[in-house]
Amino acid sequence: MNGIGIDIGGTNTKIIVVDGRGRLLHEERFRTLPADGYRDFISRLAACVKRLKKEWSPVSIGIGAAGDMDPEKGILRFSPNLRWPSVPISGPLKKLTGLPCAIENDANMAAWGAYEMELKRKYPNVLTVTLGTGIGGGLIVNGALYHGATGSAGEIGHNKIEPGGAPCSCGARGCMEAYCGNYAIIREAKKIIKNVPAFVKKYAPAGHTELDPLCLTRAADGGHRGALKVWHDMGEKLGRGLADMILLFNPDCVLFTGGVSGAARHFMGPMKKVFAAQQIARPFGAVKFAVARNADAGVYGAALLGMELARRR
Ligand SMILES: [Zn+2]
Repeated sequence: MNGIGIDIGGTNTKIIVVDGRGRLLHEERFRTLPADGYRDFISRLAACVKRLKKEWSPVSIGIGAAGDMDPEKGILRFSPNLRWPSVPISGPLKKLTGLPCAIENDANMAAWGAYEMELKRKYPNVLTVTLGTGIGGGLIVNGALYHGATGSAGEIGHNKIEPGGAPCSCGARGCMEAYCGNYAIIREAKKIIKNVPAFVKKYAPAGHTELDPLCLTRAADGGHRGALKVWHDMGEKLGRGLADMILLFNPDCVLFTGGVSGAARHFMGPMKKVFAAQQIARPFGAVKFAVARNADAGVYGAALLGMELARRR
């Protein structure tokens, strides 16, 4: 059984074909060009899917994008990158291609991809935490993706951990993302690291010219005190934010994905210290922690969830 996974980004749309185990069979991408309009995009996407259908005989399509989705109705209600009004996706695509089409926001797709491919469905209750520019969350409850009343479950990045604290990309202050998101990590690092250009020159991998989380991870690997402090502080804040989630949800496992999860060896210790200090100790003693090897699980999750839903029909 094969399935198509699609990730609609503001710049590029990525399309893959995978088999039932998530093994990659084909990959391509095209320019999203959101300014050309939604109808133009759907017709280009459908043409691409029809071509792949002839070659790979997929049974389903799964689509992820950043934003607010209605998975039941197959509607993209709002996307900050695309700036279209609320638009139907699943219906038109099914009509044009003949394939059933599941949509979810990209954090949910990443959650499903990581759940299937990294955890092999080993645990029934999983909280996935996507650490990148933003912080996204996904909930797997009793082996199924949990949406909540309006499809908005898992917006864990905007949990308030410092009332009136640092400004967040959402417009509020003091969110977990405002301390543990990519931009917040860089902001804090610039306060601590004295000579940023020299630091970047020493620790950035080839091709990187800016201070970024990868550069900070490499510096921390090398024992740089400032970089270690950045990850230590981030881990504490992350622990504070996630402690509430663990008390609420009592997961079997917390799985970290996304680019910044590569620094887990530096932030996990301080995070666990916060958990160890909790009064209600049982859920914190029982929960397992895992870091996804494939930080780009979203488009795979889209393909696998599409197949999962097609199977259940
Ligand atoms: Zn926020």
